[in-house]
Amino acid sequence: MLPQLEPPPFESTDLVTRFESAARGHGFRCERYGEVAGCPLIALTKRTPGPRPRLYLSSGIHGDEPAPPLALLEMLESGTFDSRANWLICPLLTPSGFLKRTRESAEGVDPNRDYKDIRSAEIRAHINWLQRQPNFEITFSFFDEIMSLSKLLRKIISRLPSGFVQRTSSLSDLEASVTMRMSQMTLETA
Ligand SMILES: [Zn+2]
Repeated sequence: MLPQLEPPPFESTDLVTRFESAARGHGFRCERYGEVAGCPLIALTKRTPGPRPRLYLSSGIHGDEPAPPLALLEMLESGTFDSRANWLICPLLTPSGFLKRTRESAEGVDPNRDYKDIRSAEIRAHINWLQRQPNFEITFSFFDEIMSLSKLLRKIISRLPSGFVQRTSSLSDLEASVTMRMSQMTLETA
């Protein structure tokens, strides 16, 4: 049984504060790589010495899809992101959309279509951040579409070199726990 969760914090700035305090409490470094409409844009990173896969996770690109950021917050607070990997997490890519619960950012742009002709402040700042990072072994972008998410993750995992999956057995755990938490979050925020 999953524990009962408290009602979701819907203000972007409250959510950022909760992300930062949970991240610091679990050994993450918090970087504010920009600010839009008074809300910081945050990246949370945690590195453990020795060979570790670099896993990049992002969520919250569409403001009308609240489950993924809330699921990542709950996983962060419960210590899921431990020393098995080097974690790079951008949990709330479009706080201005989240604030209004819209797919579009404050500029009226679909942020997930904005990486080529950049028009939104959030995506411009995110690209600048990405360009400063090392390559990732695996990227997970979480959207609020449970069925396609688990299908997609299975596809990604099936394409990994065989040795890699063994080295990172946490992947299937991660898939299962993100999917489970997102299912619950979606029910609660629907
Ligand atoms: Zn979407």
